[in-house]
Amino acid sequence: METLMTDVKKKVHNFSAGPGILPQEVLKQAAEACINFDNLHLSLLEISHRSKNFEAVMQEARALAKELLGLGDGYQAIFLGGGASMQFCMVPMNLLKAEGYAAYVNTGVWASKAIKEAQIIGNTKIIASSEGKKFNYVPRNYPIPGDADYMHITSNNTIYGTQMKNFPISRIPVVCDMSSDIFSRKIDCKKFDLIYAGAQKNMGPAGCTLVVVKESILGKTGRKIPSILDYSKHIKGESMYNTPPVFPIYVSLLTMRWLKKHGGVEWIEKINNQKANLLYGEIDRNSLFTGTAEKDGRSNMNITFLLNKPELEPEFDKMWKEADISGIRGHRDVGGYRASLYNALPLESVQVLVDVMKEFEKKFA
Ligand SMILES: *Cc1c(COP(=O)(O)O)cnc(C)c1O
Repeated sequence: METLMTDVKKKVHNFSAGPGILPQEVLKQAAEACINFDNLHLSLLEISHRSKNFEAVMQEARALAKELLGLGDGYQAIFLGGGASMQFCMVPMNLLKAEGYAAYVNTGVWASKAIKEAQIIGNTKIIASSEGKKFNYVPRNYPIPGDADYMHITSNNTIYGTQMKNFPISRIPVVCDMSSDIFSRKIDCKKFDLIYAGAQKNMGPAGCTLVVVKESILGKTGRKIPSILDYSKHIKGESMYNTPPVFPIYVSLLTMRWLKKHGGVEWIEKINNQKANLLYGEIDRNSLFTGTAEKDGRSNMNITFLLNKPELEPEFDKMWKEADISGIRGHRDVGGYRASLYNALPLESVQVLVDVMKEFEKKFA
């Protein structure tokens, strides 16, 4: 047999913001399942989603997602298509009453998009925003209205590199977009009534979105919802109301198994803290770089920073590319640099970046 692509040893340090890095062993298992899934001598891509082999995948994925979040009875996990962006409209359709309103915290591009979509469905109120300071911090100590149908927050702002460290305790349902930091740290998820996360940042490939919802908040709006957008229909269908995105769900399951096997969220949180401390330490120490987020709102997942002398960018870019680093250019709306340190990125990759930054300082400071 020819050499498999999966045997190629070249190591690229992948800091991509999304779709992001996945564990090597997960990619190999995924590649195998494309050819011979569960030893059926059939590809996962060519069998019925109603086959018992795939039903087992779906059941395990739904259970494991809840387990890793520390959630039990009362919550339902489903995997949907449409990306995290589809949740921007699905959340208000399912939770916002015709005469009611929803409270939103605006902490970045994704939160702003969520607000825009909710405004199409019903009334919204922005209860806190960091827009005035280019989203470089996370608002704190804002009052939460008791009469809103729900409040919506974004736990990690992928583009601006800020992250919520504390979560609101509220009497109204709390909805959280966790797309870019799900399974990255220990959180008391019982504080949330609905969590959603597009798979492609920290869980799997693009194409499926995890939604975990407390069932008791559903069915209260009196609104008519198209079936495909109705959480209750998907729950009733055990996340197979229609053909689910089988491959991204399977690869997400493989990643969740990988996480659980190594010690779960507690295990990865320690490593994620080490990685972030290492890189922030260097950004703060190095005379040529500045972090863009306010210190107490800094994200451990997406680390945004600027070169103090932008004219040196071509020199810096050359150096990190030579070190086999990939994906650290900042988002097109923000510029500068962004290193995404998702769960599957090893500490050694961060060390390589830090070494490049030190060498760069020696040459150009
Ligand atoms: C990437 C991202 C989204 C959008 O995800 P899609 O799957 O592309 O729709 C939404 N919210 C956050 C926080 C993100 O990082």
